[in-house]
Amino acid sequence: MVSEFHLVHLLLSFEETEEQKLLRQTVGSLASKFDDEYWRKRDSDGEFPREYFEALARDGWFNLNVPAELGGTALGMVDTSIVMNEVAKKSGMAASDIIMAICVFAIQTIKSFASEPLRSRLLKDLAMGKHVMSFCLTEPSAGVNTLDITTTATREGDGFVINGGKIWITLAHEATLMNVVTRTTPKDRATRRTDGLTLFLVETNNLRHGEIRKKRIEDLSMRSLGSNEVFFDNVYVPSENILGKLDKGWELLPALLNAERISTASMSVGLGQLVLEKACDYAKSRHVFSRPIGSNQGIQFPLAKSKADLEGAWAITQRAAWEFDNSRDCAISANIAAYMGARAAFFASDRAIQTYGGLGFAKSSDIERHWRDSRLFRTGPVPEEMVLNFLGQRMLGLPRSY
Ligand SMILES: Cc1cc2nc3c(=O)[nH]c(=O)nc-3n(C[C@H](O)[C@H](O)[C@H](O)COP(=O)(O)OP(=O)(O)OC[C@H]3O[C@@H](n4cnc5c(N)ncnc54)[C@H](O)[C@@H]3O)c2cc1C
Repeated sequence: MVSEFHLVHLLLSFEETEEQKLLRQTVGSLASKFDDEYWRKRDSDGEFPREYFEALARDGWFNLNVPAELGGTALGMVDTSIVMNEVAKKSGMAASDIIMAICVFAIQTIKSFASEPLRSRLLKDLAMGKHVMSFCLTEPSAGVNTLDITTTATREGDGFVINGGKIWITLAHEATLMNVVTRTTPKDRATRRTDGLTLFLVETNNLRHGEIRKKRIEDLSMRSLGSNEVFFDNVYVPSENILGKLDKGWELLPALLNAERISTASMSVGLGQLVLEKACDYAKSRHVFSRPIGSNQGIQFPLAKSKADLEGAWAITQRAAWEFDNSRDCAISANIAAYMGARAAFFASDRAIQTYGGLGFAKSSDIERHWRDSRLFRTGPVPEEMVLNFLGQRMLGLPRSY
């Protein structure tokens, strides 16, 4: 008889399957239809890359992790992570982040935690590209301390009314669905410290009453997707739109945040691979002092270090995704992956600028855009200090500072 231990080892492979190679090839060829000039323009005008979004939907990429009974491809996090990695490798971070917004923030969350009526109503529409989803967690005064959020949802008839404000919400100006983290029981009345938070799926085109106001923030990274302040004024949401259970939102967050971390790690590694390849090509072709600049160790070694960092980050990312798919606790690997991926991508982008010299500062080289984009995941969704806090406490048994 094959024990679970042996089965796990039989299933674990360090080689991508033929199907996974095909996933890369197919999504890569779609991504390549949208060239650097397209993404450069979207970065400078801040417009949503609608043609690209529609092409993803048309070719079935938002069907990736929709359950089979709803007509989906029913792939897991390992495969979704490979797709996000390949897209970032071909087209950069924003192109890949859109896949996270739909497949991870929306589809993964809805299929895991939404009520049956919402699942059957929304998953098919999401797969067809009929919605954009935002995850509304961060608030100006709470910062990384989620338990301090002050956006409230209070009972009204057969539903709840949301009031409060969020900040830094990606794609909120396009969103027709919002996953809003609220407080339903005041902190001082909660039985347990972590009780009292509830997640609501707000359908912005279908509000019985109330208003959602959005204010765009001029920012540094992934400018084509945009960041926003969002204000909820007496926004009514039916009880059916609660994700998970009332007051138990905290229990859902690890699954959402781990999936997000695996996603940001996948994209970071892809972006790092993109800039590293560009930097190596340039280092071979650019001659100064009558030799390629890549023959100087000062240029070559940091590029080799980038390669090592990216390989390491990818290995832990795939491990985290495998743990996620196999219902293991993936928090440690997902946090390490997000941390290592973000640092590796930023280091690779920074060294790509150094390799390009002055040219790295020109918009036309695209390196400065990738450098700006690669910076984000060191600060959000999880700042690296909070990853280290978590690892220090959970893995090393050190005192908690958060
Ligand atoms: C471009 C962009 C897009 C974003 N998109 C979204 C989105 O779609 N949805 C969403 O909900 N949020 C989003 N965010 C918000 C992001 O997740 C937060 O900015 C991030 O989590 C940090 O929170 P904060 O800005 O409130 O920092 P703060 O909580 O104010 O922290 C500031 C600094 O202090 C550090 N710090 C705090 N406490 C400790 C401690 N105990 N030990 C050590 N260091 C500590 C933090 O690590 C951080 O470096 C986005 C942010 C940006 C910039």
